Amino acid sequence: MYDLVVLGGGSGGLSVATMAARFGAKVALIEKNELGGECTHSACVPSKALIEAARLVHAIRTADRFGIRVAAPEVDFPAVMARVRALVAEFAGSGDSLKAQGIDLFRGSPAFEAYDTVLIDGKTRINGQRFVIATGSRAAVPKIPGLAEVGHLDPVSLWNLTALPETLIVIGAEPSGIEFAQAFARLGSKVTVLADTDQILPREDREVSDQVQARLAADGIEFHTGVEVTKAAKNDGRTVCSWRKRVGGATGEVSGSHLLVATGRLANVEGLNLDAVGVHADPEHGIEVDESLLTRSSRIYAIGDVLLKHEFTHAAEREAAVVYQNAVLRLSKKIDYTALPWAVFVDPEVATVGLTEAVALEQHPDARVFHARFDELDRARIDGRTEGFAKVMVTPSGKILGATIVGEQASLILQEFVVAMENGLNLGDLAATTHTYPTYAGMAQTLANQFAATRHEGSLVQSALKWFLGFNKPRSEPENGTGHVVAEAESGTAAAGHSNNHGH
Ligand SMILES: Cc1cc2nc3c(=O)[nH]c(=O)nc-3n(C[C@H](O)[C@H](O)[C@H](O)COP(=O)(O)OP(=O)(O)OC[C@H]3O[C@@H](n4cnc5c(N)ncnc54)[C@H](O)[C@@H]3O)c2cc1C
Repeated sequence: MYDLVVLGGGSGGLSVATMAARFGAKVALIEKNELGGECTHSACVPSKALIEAARLVHAIRTADRFGIRVAAPEVDFPAVMARVRALVAEFAGSGDSLKAQGIDLFRGSPAFEAYDTVLIDGKTRINGQRFVIATGSRAAVPKIPGLAEVGHLDPVSLWNLTALPETLIVIGAEPSGIEFAQAFARLGSKVTVLADTDQILPREDREVSDQVQARLAADGIEFHTGVEVTKAAKNDGRTVCSWRKRVGGATGEVSGSHLLVATGRLANVEGLNLDAVGVHADPEHGIEVDESLLTRSSRIYAIGDVLLKHEFTHAAEREAAVVYQNAVLRLSKKIDYTALPWAVFVDPEVATVGLTEAVALEQHPDARVFHARFDELDRARIDGRTEGFAKVMVTPSGKILGATIVGEQASLILQEFVVAMENGLNLGDLAATTHTYPTYAGMAQTLANQFAATRHEGSLVQSALKWFLGFNKPRSEPENGTGHVVAEAESGTAAAGHSNNHGH
């Protein structure tokens, strides 16, 4: 009898299995395909490698703004993909590494027979005290007439491409679709994005998606947002997608050498025989769990993409940590997503944590919003990477409700707000922290300084201190009578703590 049986060897499954084995639990892991899951084989690792290659192409193409003259870069797509595949192979875990950690690996498809038993491929029976379902998700295929006949790429089959698509149609404007759109455009494909939502990256603030869309349009990408794809067909060997605007009904078509569909996810719950153990699940909604990530069965937990909640590797790992504590250490930990960050790896990067501005103001009418632009940040100006902005939403006492950054190193800058939120630090604490100069981290400090300045302005302590130190006395005009001294003092205050509170 195993202490823990994990179904699925992706980010979540490997993480919980490793933690449990390290603690000394007897662990079995059952994997149907390849160890490492989606993140390693078809998502995070290859997509970020492709994005980096595309970023390099763009840097070379725009090098002349630094006074560096280089010939136009030539993209050897098979070589780019060869590097991507080599990286994937390097990241892919092996059964041996699990064995070394004391985890028993079983290959095949498990199905629950009873609350404490799974049967693998109808042959091998495994008994366990506790189970974790971490079988992930897969790309959903939208119901578009003709789509099945024309064929299309998805985020998995895309990695089999041997030549750069000449023209690529991307259906879907969620992070993965948008990341691929920019990467292929920069590598040299002509890209068109068809989105059924009014804005790209619909989970983000409008301000964020507008900024990203403008950048992507500058990269040559064409967008049709708020459209329904009504038909897919083949014409002279090319794929033609017809679309209709949801508002107004305008129609159009776009033709491409390749079509990529990146529209949504379905949970991998089929074949597990979950009904037999009372676990509620369906592919469209994922597995139902409570705050402890326990299913309706008291022995069976679920984590990661199979929940269809927060489809990120770091979310799966966070959930794995909670389930480890509950299933192995027998604690009663609850999952808290308040400070769960996410990023969209476009250039400029987008990173968000907590509430968006609109939701923060709706839930906390007295919330304050501080805003800063990258073209005001010294490091960004030095590097010539001045695109983008950052904003943070806080309560009047400085408790961070959310932050959004669009710009260079956004995900790194954001991490400072995540640490603060996780550990009960407020924006004032960030203002009191020394930041290395000149770095992109200065963006967090700029926002924090704005908060610190508004907090002290007009406070009793500041007024008393001013009075005591004599700063309230009228200042003498400079000899030339321009008022220069006063102006300088005021601009100093503004630089240290200018507030863009949007009047909230
Ligand atoms: C294009 C793309 C880019 C992405 N980029 C990022 C990113 O940059 N950062 C980020 O945080 N997230 C990213 N994600 C999301 C991330 O890949 C997933 O959130 C993460 O892989 C989920 O981990 P998981 O363990 O839940 O599932 P998976 O990693 O999918 O693992 C599930 C495992 O279960 C196995 N399995 C399936 N069915 C069964 C079964 N019946 N029995 C046994 N085993 C089974 C699968 O073979 C797989 O190995 C991206 C996703 C996509 C599509």
